[in-house]
Amino acid sequence: MRVVLLGTAAEGGFPRWNCGCAPCAAARDGKLPARSQEAAAVTGNSRDWWLLNASPDIRNQLAATSALWPAPGTGPAPLRGVLLTDAEPEHVSGLTELRGEPGLKVYAAPPVLAALTPARAMVDRYEPWEWCDSLTAGGFVLSGGLVVTAHPVGTSAPSYLPRRPAGESWVLAYRIEDLATGGVLVYAPRLAAPGPELDELLAGADRALLDGSCCPVAGEAATALSPPPGLRIVPTRLDHVGPLLDTTCAQAAEVGAEVLPDGAEFVL
Ligand SMILES: [Zn+2]
Repeated sequence: MRVVLLGTAAEGGFPRWNCGCAPCAAARDGKLPARSQEAAAVTGNSRDWWLLNASPDIRNQLAATSALWPAPGTGPAPLRGVLLTDAEPEHVSGLTELRGEPGLKVYAAPPVLAALTPARAMVDRYEPWEWCDSLTAGGFVLSGGLVVTAHPVGTSAPSYLPRRPAGESWVLAYRIEDLATGGVLVYAPRLAAPGPELDELLAGADRALLDGSCCPVAGEAATALSPPPGLRIVPTRLDHVGPLLDTTCAQAAEVGAEVLPDGAEFVL
């Protein structure tokens, strides 16, 4: 499985367009690497690619990732669909940029699919897509040989909804396994708080893309529960005022987290 980090910043990106804090100023000066809004891409065969979230920066992220370009003189792009972790604008608004691409599949939790009804109606007018329940029993298989299970990790509904029913599974993490290599990725860019559920999710994983705001604590929790040797934690959705944007940050090194730049790729 190949995994590409398309973007690694929290909402607003880094630097945030409307922020003059010291880290944002350092990014404008080129002293810290700029980052686009959080999303990733995975493939099991280098031909069928799946997005993990669709950020508002999706167009530039795809343009910067040659593996996701259409072959010269042919089409379409090797993009098969999108797995959404939630319905937050920074994770779903890129869907509208993909409109008109035929045959895409979008996986999300049932409340997210319901919240996206207006956007779905809009994009389906260009090309009908398949909208799938991520929480379907037994998980699902992606073309390219990836097996996915979705795991509820939060009940926080997006702020833009007029009614926000409590207790629904609004936020998911994904466990993605490559059947050919046995490599396992956990993708959890939004976590309410680390806990036993997270440690269970991380068991057997090789890499975990985790909510940067939880990573120091998550690292400690994972260590306390003896995660399997070889698990490497990569923080993502990094906040402009958080400690992890400075890639020399000692806090990240202490917990074994590996802060990577936009465009980084690894193989599992
Ligand atoms: Zn800032």
